Amino acid sequence: MLSAEEYDWYLMQCDTIVNEANGHLSRWLASDEFVALYTKDPEAAARATIKVVMSFTDVYGGMMSELAAQFFDYCQESELGRLINPASPASPVSHEQVARNVQWAFSEPDSDFAGYRLEDRLKIIGNKLTGSQARMIKQPARGTIIDSAGKARVRYARVPRGAKTCKFCLMLASRGFVYASKATAGEMNRFHDHCDCMIVPGFGIDPQWPGYDPDELYEQYKAGTLGEAAGVPTGEQDGHKREPIKIPKVGPGAKSVNYTVDLRDGRKVPLYPGAELRTTRPNYAGKGSTRKIEDSILDDLIKKYGGNREEWRKVFGNGILKVSGKRRYAEVHWYEMDDEIPRDLYKKRWNTKKDYDNS
Ligand SMILES: [Zn+2]
Repeated sequence: MLSAEEYDWYLMQCDTIVNEANGHLSRWLASDEFVALYTKDPEAAARATIKVVMSFTDVYGGMMSELAAQFFDYCQESELGRLINPASPASPVSHEQVARNVQWAFSEPDSDFAGYRLEDRLKIIGNKLTGSQARMIKQPARGTIIDSAGKARVRYARVPRGAKTCKFCLMLASRGFVYASKATAGEMNRFHDHCDCMIVPGFGIDPQWPGYDPDELYEQYKAGTLGEAAGVPTGEQDGHKREPIKIPKVGPGAKSVNYTVDLRDGRKVPLYPGAELRTTRPNYAGKGSTRKIEDSILDDLIKKYGGNREEWRKVFGNGILKVSGKRRYAEVHWYEMDDEIPRDLYKKRWNTKKDYDNS
């Protein structure tokens, strides 16, 4: 088996490459040139950033796949005593993928984004960009091991790092060493931003890896799934989803909560009976967010419903309203405490069935 020191050496090399690339990207995002461009024309800033990130994913992604290929060969020689099937480095990610990810990073995470302070907008964009750039730089390294393992007919495994591993990664890591096939590669090759899982080759009859115990990970996975639902994160998702709120049709209890939506034009209408109220941003402001709820609104909520200033949060989502007997789709904002009962709902803007279906 490979020693923990040898594996650490590989991890350190990988981290150095990713950190160097993200350091360059962060310096570009902090440069006067970028900030001036973004302030004047965000779309032009996105286009310029696509070129910058393309050069980093080409150069650093290429270094990562070279490194992964060397590591694959090193493992092979130390386990089998000689090099039978040398690895072939995978290509860096496509320029189309880079463009898509950068455009996503610049897209507005919510409808009030333009009203954020410049500093906050840049921070959000920067976090999304470095997260997805890191994933795109690691991708050819992971691909190199999976492809080379497939060609050499040896197994490979997904090995998590660090104290916290998301459920999706736990599930895959708990499978242990598997042979490359279309089915395994499809799932095993999906990574979310900020995922630090490694793909490692397993030579020999019973491959082992330092610090990796799939049975133990399976126990953790089972224990975790008894709680909240397992999420399947991908790089291009932001925030998490939770169970939609069921709107009661009629009968007792239906009136216990005021699910009336203020249209802010003098009218108040009910949510459409039986349709769900879908949460898209559960921590928009207040608890769990760096954004604050206005003092006067907080005072009013506490007076009406109780709780304290730390408990309330602002949430938004999509709902169907019943307006003059007809269904109308809308982005709905509201406030809630930990009981997740929506209070003081109001319509932010009308939207479409597609917005609702996609939420
Ligand atoms: Zn992971």
